[in-house]
Amino acid sequence: MGGINSGRLKRGSGKRLTRDFTKVDINELARQNILIPNSRHDGYLKSKEWIYYIVDMTHSDSWIDFFYSRCNGERQMRERTELTKTHPHLGGERFWFVCPLCSRRIGTLFIIINLSCRRCQDLAYASTRGEALRKTKAGNASV
Ligand SMILES: [Zn+2]
Repeated sequence: MGGINSGRLKRGSGKRLTRDFTKVDINELARQNILIPNSRHDGYLKSKEWIYYIVDMTHSDSWIDFFYSRCNGERQMRERTELTKTHPHLGGERFWFVCPLCSRRIGTLFIIINLSCRRCQDLAYASTRGEALRKTKAGNASV
């Protein structure tokens, strides 16, 4: 297989891992009391970098705008993510992000170039050995 030294992404030498990238976790937002029904406010989140956000839950279509920089701060990005909620059996409500790319209901968004879910970014968890193993096998099989 060629292209190993293409230098852009290290494809073939293992998947990129979730822990290496900036992420936004819906549970973390809930813990920090950021998801308050009928409110609109803004603030900063700390991940691998600082992310400025504006959350608007005053409409039936709730959303969060995330502002982050790319290319060493030269590009200021803004991405809107819709929020959706489910009602667990134990009561209350649970919020989720809607992935801007695939529209799936997810709990964690990752920022690499754009903002989207783990699957859209093709990321692996460092701890999920089963998945890494499956991928390795699939990779070997195709070589
Ligand atoms: Zn996605």
